[in-house]
Amino acid sequence: EKFNIAIDGPAGAGKSTIARLVANALGFVYVDTGAMYRAVTWSILQQGLPLEQTADLIALTERLDIRLEPGEHGQLVFVDGKDVTGMIRSAEVTGNVSRIASIAEIRSILTAKQKELASKKGVVMDGRDIGSHVLPDAELKIFLTASVRVRAERRLKEISGDRPDITLEQLEREIAERDRMDEQREASPLVKAPDAVWMDTTEMTIPEVVDRILELCKT
Ligand code: C5P
Repeated sequence: EKFNIAIDGPAGAGKSTIARLVANALGFVYVDTGAMYRAVTWSILQQGLPLEQTADLIALTERLDIRLEPGEHGQLVFVDGKDVTGMIRSAEVTGNVSRIASIAEIRSILTAKQKELASKKGVVMDGRDIGSHVLPDAELKIFLTASVRVRAERRLKEISGDRPDITLEQLEREIAERDRMDEQREASPLVKAPDAVWMDTTEMTIPEVVDRILELCKT
């Protein structure tokens, strides 16, 4: 019987790490929906489309073939056959993705793809609107969060190689700004679904969070 797990929460809460480990433990497919919004943003920037020409951005999104595939070191992301896994994590993409993700038509194109992925096999899907909007009937919903400081510290460890000059304070500001945009947009904003389990991971280790979610799967 199919079982879907939705994991939502703000940037840097550990969603992708946790979701991947839970998916591996259960033999489910992991779907990183943030990577899909990043892939669209990367394509728009790469084509040099002006961001205020919304109709062109939507038309491009409709044409894109976005694929997520499991790789040895995590999920790989392909756009029209090109491996963009590393490029979608750039500072430029990160700085623009929330703006692109606020366009309702782009959201509905990606939401349709996400629903289709979850209709075939059990998935662990992470994002901002999975429990509230994409998979409202998911068997288990988790809302993962942590303090801005801890989220910035975790991000700093992840990206320090790519942006050697970035400071913790700068990252905190970027994360707080992305939270604000994701929470305040009109189209499917980041909210905790009423039936989601709230987990504050500020003082939890990764294995503790994974174990807690696996426990919840049994009940
Ligand atoms: O999860 P990640 O930080 O990679 O997501 C990048 C951005 O994509 C988020 O800040 C948000 O603006 C957008 N996003 C979204 N809905 C999702 C997943 C991501 O709006 N389900």
